Amino acid sequence: MKQETMKVLVYHEPGKISLDDAPVPKILKSTDAIVKVTLSTICGSDIHIIGGHAGVQPPHILGHEFCGEIIELGSAINNFKIGDRVAISCVAFCGECFYCKQGLHYHCTDQDCTCFGTNRPNGPSLSGCQAEFVRLPYASNYMHKIPEGFTEEDMLFVGDILSTGYFGCEQVHIQPGESVLIIGAGPVGMCSALTAKLWGPAQIIIVDLDQSRLDVCLREGIADIALNPADVDIIKNVRELTNGRGADRVIEAIGSETTLQTALRAVRIGGSVCTVGSYAKPVTLPLNTYWVKNITLSMGFVPVDRLPELIKLIQAGKINTKFLMTHKAPLNDIIKGYDVFGNKKDDCLKWVITPYDR
Ligand SMILES: [Zn+2]
Ligand SMILES: [Zn+2]
Repeated sequence: MKQETMKVLVYHEPGKISLDDAPVPKILKSTDAIVKVTLSTICGSDIHIIGGHAGVQPPHILGHEFCGEIIELGSAINNFKIGDRVAISCVAFCGECFYCKQGLHYHCTDQDCTCFGTNRPNGPSLSGCQAEFVRLPYASNYMHKIPEGFTEEDMLFVGDILSTGYFGCEQVHIQPGESVLIIGAGPVGMCSALTAKLWGPAQIIIVDLDQSRLDVCLREGIADIALNPADVDIIKNVRELTNGRGADRVIEAIGSETTLQTALRAVRIGGSVCTVGSYAKPVTLPLNTYWVKNITLSMGFVPVDRLPELIKLIQAGKINTKFLMTHKAPLNDIIKGYDVFGNKKDDCLKWVITPYDR
């Protein structure tokens, strides 16, 4: 018998979430697909959402980082089949509007498109992947078959944190032999560190207050030097490591005034900074002291057209993100997952969600 209801994680009000029942989604348009979520995660931005900082209007089904198996396809989709296992971008997009054509898919103006697990006031709303099933509008634009011989575990992060980390590296234009400083050794900072290597920098320096995360970076070989601001002066150390100049390229992966200021102080004259952090509060910057450094500062929401490239890099063995999966449990345990991941308990890097255990 076909399943009529499913379990979903619902955000009810700031600080309040619960595992509820909801109808299984149906195909609404010929360009839709329905996937059974085979693997998903809790993301740092979900923590922002339940903190009431992201403008998501409750009640809403959360989750935007996932892989799935196609169980239903709209009649207009002919390059996929039922049973295909797919990696999915965190943003749904139409592919036709002004912003889609500019590669700014998050800003797609189609009323059916936004980031999964979010909504905008009087705008689009998409149910998330912390659920048993998800409806994907314009699915063939952004779901990608998982190559033969690879699993959901290999590809889980391509649609969100790995794309974001990679975007940070692309934005700062790393040249071979340069020094790259990454501020924040959370999952996104780690994804920046492991993709920065693709450009052949001389050294990757990573900064975080959490020593266990720094230890992971060194153990996994994704950074050459780890600095903890609780123990050392970051600016002084970075200068010493870079002939007194400062880092050529800096990626800020936290999203706070303090860390963004550290980034702007630590970058060398003429260097570049990209912030991929997710900001919960306004930031004040003393541009009167920074403007003279000729720094390029960029920022942005995850681009979602790099998935094919990232999947190929994983296939080629150039990137491996499996070490981020420190915790794994079925959807049944997701409330505990929010506590452990959200409060950084038990050295949790990523809480990975397997299907609901019925
Ligand atoms: Zn995310
Ligand atoms: Zn669009």
